[in-house]
Amino acid sequence: AVDALFVRRWLAEAAAVVDREAVHLTELDSAIGDADHGSNMQRGFRAAAQEMEQDPAATPGAVLAGIGRILISRVGGASGPLYGTLLRKAGKALGDSEEVAPEQLREALRAGVDGVAQLGGAAQGDKTMIDALAPAVEAMGFALDKGASLVDALAAARIAAEEGAAATVPMLARKGRASYLGERSIGHQDPGATSSALLLGALADVAQ
Ligand code: ADP
Ligand code: MG
Ligand code: MG
Repeated sequence: AVDALFVRRWLAEAAAVVDREAVHLTELDSAIGDADHGSNMQRGFRAAAQEMEQDPAATPGAVLAGIGRILISRVGGASGPLYGTLLRKAGKALGDSEEVAPEQLREALRAGVDGVAQLGGAAQGDKTMIDALAPAVEAMGFALDKGASLVDALAAARIAAEEGAAATVPMLARKGRASYLGERSIGHQDPGATSSALLLGALADVAQ
């Protein structure tokens, strides 16, 4: 079941995968940004994992909203407020339920992704994290509508996010720092779409 422990396990897994991939994320950001995406993500997820260990919140919604607040306050880059908003909105959408059904989780993630799109003004195709997040939520919903289990729906979400991140390579960036490069942003994978796929991969792993 998706309970507070599940979300805390996701956070620990997310922090671990961000640590493992930080150098790669920063390399991607050095091609079309300012070479800090890996360290931004590392700082934020380490802080969140530490705080949640010291003072664990009791419901899945409160854990997500708490992580969101920490990311907003600890990550200097664009990704902090964006991921922070994603998790705060998702947490808020879950309310104070102790256990969350797969369908509720999907709705919460959808609310979170809508929050990112609203805050950052990016649509699919603009070469941002939205290009991984939006297809993932869609794939999760499609799978659940067909009667898939949470495990299978999150596995589908992970694949959609990875494909979405890979599909940013030929895109021209229209939002964020990469957009300053214009045509020179073409041919590189977006760092934020890449980290989004990692975060969804961690979610799929924890559901197993
Ligand atoms: P910064 O660009 O401030 O250094 P990061 O390097 O941590 O921040 O994050 C960059 C990532 O943030 C990009 O790869 C992109 O996916 C995402 N991003 C930037 N601006 C936006 C936006 N307006 N909407 C959605 N995502 C964005
Ligand atoms: Mg950067
Ligand atoms: Mg920066």
